[in-house]
Amino acid sequence: MSEFPTKTEVVVIGAGIAGTMTAYQLAKRGVPVVLCEKGRVAGEQSSRNWGWVRKQGRDPREIPAIIESLRIWEELEKEIEADVGWQKGGTLYIAKDDDDLAYFEHWLGFARDYQLDSRMLSPDEVDELTGSEGRKWKGGLYTPSDGRAEPAKAAPAVAKAVERLGGTVLTGCAVRTVESAAGKVTGVVTEKGTIACQAVVCAAGAWSSLFSGNLGHAFPQLKVKASVLRTKPAPLITETSVSSPGASIRRRQDGGYTMARSGNSYFEIVPDAFRYFRSFLPALNTSMKPRLRVGGAFFEELVRPKRWNGDQVTPFEQTRVLDPTPHQGTLREVLAAARTNFPQLGQLEIAETWAGMIEVTPDAIPVWSGVDNLEGYYIATGFSGHGFGMGAATGLLMSELVMDGRARVDLSPFRLSRFTDGSKLELNAR
Ligand SMILES: Cc1cc2nc3c(=O)[nH]c(=O)nc-3n(C[C@H](O)[C@H](O)[C@H](O)COP(=O)(O)OP(=O)(O)OC[C@H]3O[C@@H](n4cnc5c(N)ncnc54)[C@H](O)[C@@H]3O)c2cc1C
Repeated sequence: MSEFPTKTEVVVIGAGIAGTMTAYQLAKRGVPVVLCEKGRVAGEQSSRNWGWVRKQGRDPREIPAIIESLRIWEELEKEIEADVGWQKGGTLYIAKDDDDLAYFEHWLGFARDYQLDSRMLSPDEVDELTGSEGRKWKGGLYTPSDGRAEPAKAAPAVAKAVERLGGTVLTGCAVRTVESAAGKVTGVVTEKGTIACQAVVCAAGAWSSLFSGNLGHAFPQLKVKASVLRTKPAPLITETSVSSPGASIRRRQDGGYTMARSGNSYFEIVPDAFRYFRSFLPALNTSMKPRLRVGGAFFEELVRPKRWNGDQVTPFEQTRVLDPTPHQGTLREVLAAARTNFPQLGQLEIAETWAGMIEVTPDAIPVWSGVDNLEGYYIATGFSGHGFGMGAATGLLMSELVMDGRARVDLSPFRLSRFTDGSKLELNAR
């Protein structure tokens, strides 16, 4: 590593897809930027996700941004001259019953408003797209222009591009706090020293509320654990990412499949759960349907400090990489469902299992926002289980917000103050 940078214009906290893409867009504009990561690039959610990059099924408020995101993903490999595993294979949700079909029709109303290429598929068309014979599902919702990328490759490739453009990427470098004077950001204190700057973007994933809380800007954010498996190489049946009852599958570059299922998440009861319980009640009833658990995290978070100074060791240094244990029972069920739904995949074998902590907001849409009373402090987080696909737009929109004071899409639904200004939170997740 070159010399520790004591001065820059913007510090970005967190080298997941949101932080790397933000640093990339800033560096592209010629803005001096330092990206600080407490662990390793994409160590948390951004390397652990399914890799779906989709417009399909989105909250309508996110659609203008996800259109921008897809546009960037499509050009990214050429632009940064690196492999991120991009493939435009589409997204398919298979309907198991009439309720699913009705929901898909309802969502298509939003797709039409934005002229998306999403459409319903007949049972025969679902069979054809998935190489099935005689499965005759009820039908499906299909968006051919959606895509996928390899989570393990994307953020690391973007971080390298940041460095090529003159930005600095510091790993193993937790940001402890932000310094300010007269209500304006003046710098950050990291575990390795202080960096003077004019703006800070907190893209700290599951840690964003804790970090911002120390500055007086906590917001409702909880974590749910989701487990994933990848198989050994198996026949290519479709390039489309498919959500089927009990098993969602995505073809991988290595010839295997990444598999999991929606609604397989576990929500650990932690002290913040009591603090934010009322705000999250509607979200707990959506298709995410996390099962409730009490585990060691309760006591860990109970004793975790909520306030600290820049000269103290922080929770960010104490947990370099959030690496939860996968739920093997759930994953065995996923594999069994995949075998039943797609017998044409043959004898599927598990190559690896893992889990990730998804951070959610009560209305399941992100925060892309500045904050009151601290000029130069911005937050990009709360992606609620679908921020990998949105990562490219996050970078663009945050770079515009920081540098121009506004972004090309309306960011008002994503303002932080929606949690405190008396607004009724709207939840569109199913
Ligand atoms: C199992 C699973 C499946 C998913 N599937 C999909 C999918 O198919 N499609 C999709 O769009 N999304 C999906 N998601 C969601 C997606 O992965 C996340 O929304 C996205 O990766 C969030 O990116 P991020 O950069 O905000 O956060 P993260 O990737 O979590 O990165 C935050 C980073 O900040 C660092 N950090 C925190 N605090 C500090 C500090 N104080 N100083 C320095 N560094 C700090 C952390 O170490 C971490 O590396 C899935 C998530 C999971 C877990």
